[in-house]
Amino acid sequence: MRNNALKIIVPNLKPHHLDPRSCQGSNSVGGIVLDQFASMVNHSCDSNTFWINEGEALRFRAAKDISAGSELSMSYTDTTRDYKTRQEAYISQFNFTCSCEICQKGDDGPTGKLRDKILQIENLDKSALDFRGNFFDKTIQDMTKAGFGLGAYGMNLMHHGLLQLQINQKDYKKILRTCLVLYFGVERLSIPPVPADARLDTLFRVFQINGLAKQNAKSFRGTDSHVPALAEKLHLNFYELYVRMLEKWIGGDTTVTKFAKKSFDEFLKMKNAEEGDNKWQYASLAKKNKGARKEFVANVNELLVWAGLEKLGEKEIL
Ligand SMILES: [Zn+2]
Repeated sequence: MRNNALKIIVPNLKPHHLDPRSCQGSNSVGGIVLDQFASMVNHSCDSNTFWINEGEALRFRAAKDISAGSELSMSYTDTTRDYKTRQEAYISQFNFTCSCEICQKGDDGPTGKLRDKILQIENLDKSALDFRGNFFDKTIQDMTKAGFGLGAYGMNLMHHGLLQLQINQKDYKKILRTCLVLYFGVERLSIPPVPADARLDTLFRVFQINGLAKQNAKSFRGTDSHVPALAEKLHLNFYELYVRMLEKWIGGDTTVTKFAKKSFDEFLKMKNAEEGDNKWQYASLAKKNKGARKEFVANVNELLVWAGLEKLGEKEIL
């Protein structure tokens, strides 16, 4: 039976303990729901809203600026898949083809063997999964050589695969680099856009891994030796950025944001107590703290250049 039921998503509340494995996976599915309002919202791969569950409520959030009178849209399936796979899914599940602005441009991702490699991972073809080799690294290199940028289809999946491998190997230097490339490169540039909850998960990892760099300083040698101190400096800023992005994207009145805010405040209190008489004070990234924001942007850019990315402006970072 074809229907447009939505999955009920139960968000995982993320504590602040510093283990990059503690935030693996994002949300759990708690059931399905048929909703009158949601069923009237049309589909687009570049939707102007997305939905969240908050207690028993289904809430729609703006994914971009929406001018008065324009139609609301949401994405009916996983938009991180390529044009062909998306269209197949729309036909088989909903009996329509999508002609949103992104789909009108057609397939601009990898084709042939490169596409097959990505599909092997996407479809969890176990015979293709060789985690001992450099499958992900190699595919990313091949895609780059073929002229595909970080936002191209497949880059997201390959970088997440690479990150998982590096987490299993506890290679902190590489984890930090891949997290930065994912959040500030791949996920920022992907078309269709990466959903907000996935970006928040990656940002949470960026925060966590920055907190681990100092105690794993040994792996940062030579031209990398300045990185642990820089990451340590940015650690709390990234935690605050995570809370700010939760507020901006999901809303300040949700359980997830309130929980993250409380955890952040407790973390600051703990840090204050640790510092004792040193009168340590955290400079927040609030709009009025122009100096702190400027310093944060400069420091993030230093990390981005180290990770092989281009520098970004304040608007793109904050
Ligand atoms: Zn579309």
